[in-house]
Amino acid sequence: MAREWKRVRFDIPAERVGRITLTRPESANAQDYQMLSDLNQAFDCAAQDEQVRVIVLAAEGRHFSSGHDLGALNPDMDAFRTVGTQCHFDAPGAEGYMAREAEMYVGLCWRWRNIPKPTIAQVQGKVIAGGLMLVWPMDLVVCSEDASFSDPVVAFGVNGHEYFVHPYEAGARLAKEMLFTGRAIGAEEAYLRGMVNKVVPRDELESATLEMAAHIAKRPMFGLSLAKQSVNNSLDAQGMYTSIQSAFGLHHVAHSHNMQVHGTLIDPAGLQVVRDEA
Ligand code: ZN
Repeated sequence: MAREWKRVRFDIPAERVGRITLTRPESANAQDYQMLSDLNQAFDCAAQDEQVRVIVLAAEGRHFSSGHDLGALNPDMDAFRTVGTQCHFDAPGAEGYMAREAEMYVGLCWRWRNIPKPTIAQVQGKVIAGGLMLVWPMDLVVCSEDASFSDPVVAFGVNGHEYFVHPYEAGARLAKEMLFTGRAIGAEEAYLRGMVNKVVPRDELESATLEMAAHIAKRPMFGLSLAKQSVNNSLDAQGMYTSIQSAFGLHHVAHSHNMQVHGTLIDPAGLQVVRDEA
């Protein structure tokens, strides 16, 4: 059944396929807490729908997602239904902000990563920093030829975005290059590096993604769930969750450092560094 939230839409575009679409193209689908909260409700909706076996995450407009909406980092948490066990969101110092990011970023990404149904990201245009936090929790990635993937936040004095799975997604060598240089990885390179499953022309992106989703959806739900869980378990056995939590701790050392030195969560000089290279 189709549903709509403020920043996200859910529909059933093919038999047994549920599709969640980001609907904030005027801001290149920048993520504020409203979008993440809407997205979480849409994932719950798709996960609980007995008719849905495969979930597609798509985005309206030229770009999949430009990352976190830096103009809306500290909204009133009472406006959102939290689903984790974090609290004290308004506490001073590192405590409150760490709880916010644990709930809204790492917590939600990990929740979506573990939905017991196959998920496919349908990606066009730019995916920047926090944008990767919507792509990387998905099981498969289909992208158009104009897609690119980057995490330039080292320029802002932090280690990377909060859902730190870069070494798992790009491999250690490329992960370091992405982080050190801020370079965007284009679709073709992403394919060669195993970061995406399929690259198609922009006008075939939707049909190619739905074709893959419909193909997968012919298989039994339980078999798909067990296959997904088995692969995820092998990543967990390699320490994926512990790696994320370890990097998240360092990420908050960076936020605290920047707050002490610059009075802001990120080094404001980063903006000029990134602009000079654009
Ligand atoms: Zn952060």
